Amino acid sequence: MVELIERKKTGGELTAEEFEWFLAGYESGEIADYQASALLMAICFQHLNATETHALMDAMIRSGGTVDLAGRLGRRVVDKHSTGGVGDKITIAVGPIVAACGVPFGKMSGRGLGHTGGTLDKLESIPGFRVELTTDELVEQTRAIGIAVAGQSANLVPADKKLYALRDVTATVDEVSLIAASIMSKKIAAGASALVLDCKVGDGAFTRTIEEARELAEAMRELGVRAGMDVVCVLSDMDQPLGRAVGNAVEVREAVETIGGGGPPDFRELVIDACGQLLALSDLGVDEAEGRRRAEAAMADGSALAKYGEWIRAQGGDPDLGALPVAPVVAPVTASESGFVRELRAREVAFTALELGAGRHRAGDPVDHAVGVICLKKRGDAVEAGEPLAEIHARDEADVDARAHRASRRV
Ligand code: URA
Repeated sequence: MVELIERKKTGGELTAEEFEWFLAGYESGEIADYQASALLMAICFQHLNATETHALMDAMIRSGGTVDLAGRLGRRVVDKHSTGGVGDKITIAVGPIVAACGVPFGKMSGRGLGHTGGTLDKLESIPGFRVELTTDELVEQTRAIGIAVAGQSANLVPADKKLYALRDVTATVDEVSLIAASIMSKKIAAGASALVLDCKVGDGAFTRTIEEARELAEAMRELGVRAGMDVVCVLSDMDQPLGRAVGNAVEVREAVETIGGGGPPDFRELVIDACGQLLALSDLGVDEAEGRRRAEAAMADGSALAKYGEWIRAQGGDPDLGALPVAPVVAPVTASESGFVRELRAREVAFTALELGAGRHRAGDPVDHAVGVICLKKRGDAVEAGEPLAEIHARDEADVDARAHRASRRV
């Protein structure tokens, strides 16, 4: 291990056999956290080239089982993945729209990472909703109703789980090669035929500049294509939160409004764009423009909303928006002067929501599904002095006082 760390530290390359040996040793406990951390940090400074990134991803996939979702359904299966953002509830809206258009959407999603929210936490704000499906349940539900969203099964890429937890606490998350290998190992192991990657760029994303996001997009695309997957990458703005709602139940509500044809314009546009791309990658034989048209039709005629209800009920949840938890206290953050909103920093809004209880400080912390932030004004909007810029949805008044003061400096 010392030799591998030394070689990477001085800019050398690691072989496929060495990555495999490293992951097996780390998994068994033979390689200590401090040595794995040192190697990860050396990778952050020296990076992995395309061959090494592929070798790491491949070794991670082989650390556990795989699911042949497309093979078992006998259909092309499409998937989407976001590199992580604030207010990103796209899966909850896109899944039922795509399924209503006749394309199977069977997906494994994750929980919040750092300041970013996770689809599973959002879905768990729906009373009764069950995210723990076995692989057979995931396949059967996707076959029966066209959509299932579940947590990652325990034996899918276990090496990533362990390594990710270590990266999270050693400041080694934001290295492009490590992110690419981590995300693509899970996508390839979960068996989709085609993938739309939503690469977030900006203050609230893991990649803050367009160059970094493009580099990550290209690295992930190369890994997917090498595995025989069709991959399309979208670079999207994460300098401000996506849509208006940031939290859990508040985001589910906004996603459902969007499925029904409403919703904030920026979120709606990204949802329709992702649906257009996914339908074009499916076996429907349509191009992106026709995919967009079909998605919009499903949102307008109520079929996407009906599919949402069917999906939530199939996983034990109550799809009625009235069943979602509501924060006991809702307070406005008002503008101190008139003007235009120049910036709305996604990371700061995310931390406000996190401190209200919408996210976790430590792995395993409970999440308060009711709380969050609604950004009533977005970048470029005109605002009058005294007008509300945002709403704080909090557990109690004390929380509002603390957060509203900080939020007013952040919004
Ligand atoms: N999401 C992942 O699954 N892995 C990373 O490394 C970063 C974001």
